[in-house]
Amino acid sequence: MSTGPIPPSASRSLDRPRPTDQSDVRRHNAALVLDCVDAAGPLSRARVAAHTGLTRATVGTIVDELIAAGLVSEKGTRAPSGVGRPGTDLALRPEGAGGVGLEINVDGYVASVVDLAGTVRHRAARSGDLRGRTATAVLRTAARLVDDAVAAAYDLGIPVRGIGVAVPGLVDLGEQVLRLAPNLGWTDVRVVERLRSYAVTTWPSPMVLDNEANLAALGELWVGGHGSADSFVLVNGDVGVGAGVVLDGRLHRGTRGFGGELGHLTVAPDGPECRCGARGCLEQVAGLDFILRQAGVRDAPRTGEDAVAPLLARLARGDERAVAAVRQAGESLGVGVAALVNLFDVETVVLGGIFAPLFPWLDEPLRAVVRRRVLSAAWAPLTVRPSALGRDAAVIGAAYAPLRDLLADPLGADASVA
Ligand SMILES: [Zn+2]
Repeated sequence: MSTGPIPPSASRSLDRPRPTDQSDVRRHNAALVLDCVDAAGPLSRARVAAHTGLTRATVGTIVDELIAAGLVSEKGTRAPSGVGRPGTDLALRPEGAGGVGLEINVDGYVASVVDLAGTVRHRAARSGDLRGRTATAVLRTAARLVDDAVAAAYDLGIPVRGIGVAVPGLVDLGEQVLRLAPNLGWTDVRVVERLRSYAVTTWPSPMVLDNEANLAALGELWVGGHGSADSFVLVNGDVGVGAGVVLDGRLHRGTRGFGGELGHLTVAPDGPECRCGARGCLEQVAGLDFILRQAGVRDAPRTGEDAVAPLLARLARGDERAVAAVRQAGESLGVGVAALVNLFDVETVVLGGIFAPLFPWLDEPLRAVVRRRVLSAAWAPLTVRPSALGRDAAVIGAAYAPLRDLLADPLGADASVA
């Protein structure tokens, strides 16, 4: 039985509908109850009422609807406290809803199924250098991974509430078009439309496209153990480098949604040419290609998980060239991170993608540069840490995005699908 106060850090800030009429009030209250059960459950109806400030009758009605929708379950029975019938505790039902995530990156694909509790229930990855491959070839393969993930969710008895797709480039959110992915060499690709046209199974709606660093930051925010009002920058590393800026629990994308392109921050104006056309971009001196080249890792496929494994093995045995390569990348990354901290005054920087497993070697050189370059460093200490979700932050964020919409409006128009 839950008797303590609801931990504030566990409560998630939901974009709840502003109640304007009776039906809106009911939906708003349903989100409030589900959030409470999610953050603090298992707990009794009476405690849900106490925590939300709703009447016991209102809570009772909403709980019945949430149970009918498969989102909440009753857990065991407690002995009656004095008089009355035995009570039951309420808990979030993780398998009550799931989301499918797909990440298409320069070095391969990952698809996963994440349940309502944020647990990964299915994961399939395929490595391969996608540079120079046509969008058609890549999206056909990606569609198979989504087919398999949708089928896996079905086998697990998890109703899928939507599909999120993470891509390494500029996404026009309104049009749902990948405008530019420099490392893939793609422009104006209607990713969602084309993936759907290659589907073999029936895919649920909605299907949403977003930038991988943004989804990694959201994944980190939603299921990475952050408080609802946290501020941090997630720096996602792969062949490309991107950033997702979260301030007071909200992702800041810039006015047109194209912000966070940290990888194309100029750190050396006369440096090597970047695939974007400019020179000396951060990802040219801190991305996966640079690190592998500097480390002399040539005997492994330069893609996906296969690429980092031999590098990690060299680092673990103290290979000087590998350590120096990662330190150099860490110093360049420090220049980028210092720029972000000087601009946004965040107190935490989270390293995701390949930077997560490389963190033990990146940390010290990065921190040293930040100390020198951040004006406020003496008074406002910065926490730098690896993503709790490791390399999968983006695909987890993609899969969880439709579940956030569900949590914000659990009894919305199509809430009884389950
Ligand atoms: Zn560039």
